[in-house]
Order: sequence, then C-alpha cells, then structure tokens
Amino acid sequence: MEKNLIDIIAQSGIVGAGGAGFPTHVKMNAKAEYVIINGAECEPLLRVDQQLMAVETKKILEALKLVKDFVGADKAVIALKDHYHDAINSFNKYLGEYEGISLHLLENFYPAGDEQITVYEVTGRIVPEGGIPLKCGVIVSNVETMLNIYNAYFDDEPVTDSYVTFAGEVKNHITLKLPLGMTVAEALAMAGGVTVDGPFVVINGGPMMGKHVPLDSKITKTTKGLIVLPESHPLIQDVKMDINQMLHVAKAACCHCSMCTEVCPRNLIGHSIAPNKTIRFASYGNLCDGSATPMIAFLCSECRLCQYACIMNLQPWKVNHMLKGMMAKEGIRNTLSNAPESAHPMREYKKYPIAKLIRNLGLTKYNVAAPMTALPYEVDHVSIPLGQHIGAPAEPCVAVGDTVNKGDVIAKPAEGKLGACIHASISGTVKAIADGCVSIEK
Ligand code: SF4
Ligand code: SF4
Repeated sequence: MEKNLIDIIAQSGIVGAGGAGFPTHVKMNAKAEYVIINGAECEPLLRVDQQLMAVETKKILEALKLVKDFVGADKAVIALKDHYHDAINSFNKYLGEYEGISLHLLENFYPAGDEQITVYEVTGRIVPEGGIPLKCGVIVSNVETMLNIYNAYFDDEPVTDSYVTFAGEVKNHITLKLPLGMTVAEALAMAGGVTVDGPFVVINGGPMMGKHVPLDSKITKTTKGLIVLPESHPLIQDVKMDINQMLHVAKAACCHCSMCTEVCPRNLIGHSIAPNKTIRFASYGNLCDGSATPMIAFLCSECRLCQYACIMNLQPWKVNHMLKGMMAKEGIRNTLSNAPESAHPMREYKKYPIAKLIRNLGLTKYNVAAPMTALPYEVDHVSIPLGQHIGAPAEPCVAVGDTVNKGDVIAKPAEGKLGACIHASISGTVKAIADGCVSIEK
C-alpha cells in the first residue's frame, strides 16, 4: 500500500522543531511553489541546525524531495548562512542527485531566520502583514523537522527526542540528543553542570527570543538550546526590567530618533510596524500619525532588535508585547493585511550583523563551538508534557500502570482540535498523568 506522507507525519507527532511547534501535518497539507528549509539558525550561540545539515545531509535532502513532490513545488531551497562551510560542502556532494533542489546562501545577519525574512531573501516575495508564507506560495520548514520527517517516513520512528545546544555558563559546550520529558536540571547535568557560583537563569532557546525557564521544566520537541547566564548579566536584567519602569524612562529619554524603526526587519520588508510609534503611543497616548494605529503592534515578531539599535536602551518590543496582550484580552484581532510590493530601498545596507549583536549582548566569551556529542546515558524517569505544540494539549491514551515501549503513542490530539500526537521517549511504566504531563518510569 502506498504510504501517505501527511498521515505518517501526523501519527509521528512531528511539529515545527524550530519555533512554536506548529503541527507539521497541517502545514504540509497544502500546495506551494516553493519549499524552503530554514537553516539560518540566526540566534547567537545555537548550533543544532548547522550541525544536523552537515551530518544528516542525505536524510534532509530525501525528506525535502518527499515534501517538494507532495506539495507540488517547482523549487526546493535550503537557506543557510554562507559561513556554514561543513554543511555547504556536504550538501554540494549530493545536490547533483536532486533535481529542483538548491542552496541559498545568506549573509550573517539577524534575524535571517525569521521566516518572513527568509522568504524575502530566497524568493524576493513579501509575506503580507499578518500572513503566513503560504500566502505567497511558500512553505518553510525547520531543519530538524525535515530530519524527523525522514525518520518517520523511512524508518517508522516518531519524535521521541530533541537536539539541544548547551551554551553560556555550562562546563561543556556541546550539542546533545535528549529524550522528551527530561528536566532542564538533568539536561544541564549532562553538560557537566553549571559553572557560575551565584544565582543564574536558564534561557530555553536563543538569547534574543528564548524564554527564561525553571530547572524543573521539561525538554520538549521545540527545545533547541539551553543557555545559562548569571542573573546579573545585562541580557537577563533587560528582560526582567518592569515595563512601567521602562515606559517611565522612555517618556524622558526617547528622542524620537527612529533608529529602532530603521533596523526593524519587518519594517524593512515594507510592513507598517514602526517601533518608534508604539513607544510614542505607550508614552503619550498618541502616534503622531493619522494613518497608524496601535494595531501595528500585532506585526511585531518580538525579535528584540529594536532595543539594540536604541541608544537609550529602550525596549519597544516589550511595548508591542504588552499592546498585543491588551488587545487580545479585549477580543481585538489584527486587521492589517497590507501586501507591500517592495521592501525598503536601503534594506540591504541595514541588516544587523550577528558579530555586532553578540558584542552588544555581552556574549562574546560564550560564542564558541558546541560540537554534537553522543554521550552514553541512562534515563530512568521522564515527565512528558502533553502540550508541546500550537493548538490544544494532546489527550492521554494510556492509563497509570500501563507498560509502554519507547515510540508508543501515549497521547493524541483532541477530536477535531489542532494538535499533535505524543510518544513515549523511554520504555517503562506509566506512573502518573498529572499537571499536563505523562510520567514514565523505567
Ligand atoms: S531608538 Fe530609542 S530613542 Fe530612538 S525612537 Fe526608538 S525608542 Fe526612541
Ligand atoms: S521586536 Fe522590534 S525590531 Fe523586532 S519586529 Fe518587533 S518592533 Fe521590529
């Protein structure tokens, strides 16, 4: 019987591994002209995708070919930074075997991996405001997601693990494949432990867009990096700064220079987002522009670049986040859907170099290699979250006391709801189903 790609992706619990975890069987169930693998990995310190592309090259190409044929795309493109030499050399060995698949080399700027920016860089098309890449005929997928598609389709392996880079104040800067449901504390121990004596913070994800997480939080399908920094590090203090305090400072300190808007990557592709206006609105209740509304905050990706362009270290991104929350609470949705015909004419000269960003973030000493490492380890307990994806949490299909094998389905999407299957990441007995997790002991 012919295999059905979408069914296999759904049954294997594959979600976007590099972002918020959008269920891949929904994203791929479409027709598109382009499929792009987003291998930019533009957040400083993260190393997963560039290494997977170098070592799992053939599998990634096979999965891309599958998806390209399924969605009827003419072109499939792997977008990656021009300094990912190992990955580029490895792809170049095999590309001749794959018709319609090519590489697109990106400069080393932030945020080259924002999918709307990647789409513009590769195709020259601009995703409309509030839209998704499919609006302009493009499907964008993460590198590890493609590897998961290969594993599911060719090897019947569902998603049970995630690749994670350890960075910052950890003994060993490495990249490991970890079982879903392991705690952050256990994961950090595998990297040799934390090297800072005083209080510290763990960031799940990149330093720009990652979230501060407690030590008992779990490794999920979207965990790509764990970065440990002293609590006193400016990057941590910036995120913790109270918004009212920041707005108080902004009233006096914002000189309306618009430098934040000058670097805003979404503004540079023609969207009407303008962080200088949202700061002004939050400070004075006025946008000073009859054609703009606070709704422009919905167009913010929260990449946080505006803060690093601001000479006063103000945080327009935080204002946008606050405004989005306030509007959502009132039931107000984005209505902006402008489709720009062209990007800012000076966009090419306004790209924010990663090296400058790393310096400004105070991360230079942590910007080191984190080689992929296979460590022998025994995991005797996992607590696997039922909500690792966009949509409703999955509903358990096992009971306490059941015996499960690694790879067995333990939860499925609720009937008629957006979601993804969850699988056991170790073999053992289901010990508890509580607090949104299924706990398994060996
Ligand atoms: S860069 Fe800073 S000072 Fe300039 S307009 Fe933006 S928030 Fe105000
Ligand atoms: S965080 Fe700032 S720079 Fe990034 S999209 Fe939002 S407004 Fe623009």
